[in-house]
Amino acid sequence: MEKTLEQWRLEGAVFGDLMDLRETVWLNPALGSAGEVIPTLPVTAADVADASARLRRFAPYLAEVFPETAEAGGIIESPLAEVPAFQRALGYGPGKLLMKLDSHLPISGSIKARGGIYEVLCLAESLALNAGMLSPEDGYQVLAQPRFREFFRQYAVAVGSTGNLGLSIGIMSAKLGFRVTVHMSADARQWKKDLLRSKGVTVAEYAGDYGLAVAEGRRQAAADPMCHFVDDENSKTLFLGYAVAAGRLKRQLEERHIPVDRDHPLFVYLPCGVGGGPGGVAFGLKLLYGDSVHCFFAEPTHAPCMTLGLATGLHDGVCVEDFGIDGRTAADGLAVGRPSSFVGRVMERLVSGCYTVDDNRLYRLLHLLAESEGIRLEPSALAGVPGMGLVCGGAAASYVKERNIFPENITHIAWATGGSMVPPDVWREYDLTGAALRAEP
Ligand SMILES: *Cc1c(COP(=O)(O)O)cnc(C)c1O
Repeated sequence: MEKTLEQWRLEGAVFGDLMDLRETVWLNPALGSAGEVIPTLPVTAADVADASARLRRFAPYLAEVFPETAEAGGIIESPLAEVPAFQRALGYGPGKLLMKLDSHLPISGSIKARGGIYEVLCLAESLALNAGMLSPEDGYQVLAQPRFREFFRQYAVAVGSTGNLGLSIGIMSAKLGFRVTVHMSADARQWKKDLLRSKGVTVAEYAGDYGLAVAEGRRQAAADPMCHFVDDENSKTLFLGYAVAAGRLKRQLEERHIPVDRDHPLFVYLPCGVGGGPGGVAFGLKLLYGDSVHCFFAEPTHAPCMTLGLATGLHDGVCVEDFGIDGRTAADGLAVGRPSSFVGRVMERLVSGCYTVDDNRLYRLLHLLAESEGIRLEPSALAGVPGMGLVCGGAAASYVKERNIFPENITHIAWATGGSMVPPDVWREYDLTGAALRAEP
């Protein structure tokens, strides 16, 4: 970094807020019109359509090997939930709050079931096609046959993860027959390690932090020509897997007769770690709805890597530690110090803004949602919720006013990114923490 921390403080109030761990909002001064920006990007609508078609080819296979997806015909999709009691308890309005429950995605219970599983399926398809064992016209349920498991056994998959990406990559890879290793840092939750081992996944543990686990995974994978390393920080494949969500959401909104157009805009709030999940979903939405959709990324106050990357314009050239921020948060999946450079550059003119949320607020919201709607999430998955409050009368109200948007016409979607796989005793601890915090004066 060329500038000192004092110089950054002078550059904008947002930098002081971030360094002081205060909840803050950053509105993107470079936001452009979708129609102008999208044609300049290295990802296209055709790429997303291709990913969507690939997932359809795999649907018969998924329906067979993961019976929980059979009812949906092997399409891994989550409900769009009405949460009127929660919205009342929050006191948010006017406008309507919905939640996209990726927490309840089948197979791995988080948004990573989109990108992570998609990347493993891509790998399997390309290996099987190249070996002449599969043709795109085949019914992909043949992949469940033992000869395919034997074939994939020659190949390895590796990923570095604190949890949810490891679950998605691990479970899907093991099911296909790949030898799969998830490299995990010391702070990764025990139940995630246990679950992976029970599925036949090798879990490598490291005393150091997440960055070290990823670096070690990358190094070991590079030494093995039969090993595919899933690169969370740079993978366009993961990104496209996430982007497919947009078309599915569009259908869900249409089924409910919820209009999305200039006069009825959609505001979407996405919890952000390295950026692939929220970036992919937001990109997909921008392709479909253009300037009628407004996307915001939400990060913990202790790990605002994407906010820093975008606000400085330096992307992966900065990390939270450069700003004296420790990266420690209870929000699994969001505890990331350095943003993806690929996602930052794709989104720098498409994302409306970012905001940060304190961990204590995540716990309080977790408790309130469970109490009012009976929906159980993990802490990170609540980060999208405060967005509506910020836009409707809060610190981001100017965004709506400047655009002459009527707040009563907005549909707000908080993307609930994970939680259904959390064991009941672990979840109870989260809930008790939230209840205790709410009781505080
Ligand atoms: C991974 C994750 C995210 C964010 O996804 P990124 O691609 O890392 O930005 C959000 N919520 C949960 C629960 C996650 O596991």
